[in-house]
Amino acid sequence: MLCAKCNNAVTDFASCSLCEGNFHYGCAGVTESGYRRMGLEKKAAWRCMSCRTKSTETGGSAIAEVLKEIRNLRVDFNAMKMDFGNVQADIRSTKTSMQELNTKWNKMESRFSGIEDRLLTAETKLSSLTSIQKEYWN
Ligand SMILES: [Zn+2]
Ligand SMILES: [Zn+2]
Repeated sequence: MLCAKCNNAVTDFASCSLCEGNFHYGCAGVTESGYRRMGLEKKAAWRCMSCRTKSTETGGSAIAEVLKEIRNLRVDFNAMKMDFGNVQADIRSTKTSMQELNTKWNKMESRFSGIEDRLLTAETKLSSLTSIQKEYWN
């Protein structure tokens, strides 16, 4: 038999009820006489040092930690939900302004092409006028 803590041979040991490890009394944090004085029930329920610290962690502070984490998560989740709502509103307003922009752009485009046409006509008129003028003056 090997001690679950120091890995050295152990003949007389304390057995942990949780990890089922066998320990030297010293490694288990108990005295031999103290362990021997325990009743059968107490011995059957006995836990080694690491299991004792683990169980107090899960029994007390770990649950508090988890609850705290859940509370934090809830706060984060609510903040995220609000952000998400804002983004959705932004998307909606962006969509509307994109549509407005598109309409404006289309109007501008037709105005541009109208101006282009007028410009072309004016240019043609101008060139014909200048040629007439040249003819007239020369
Ligand atoms: Zn040991
Ligand atoms: Zn143990």
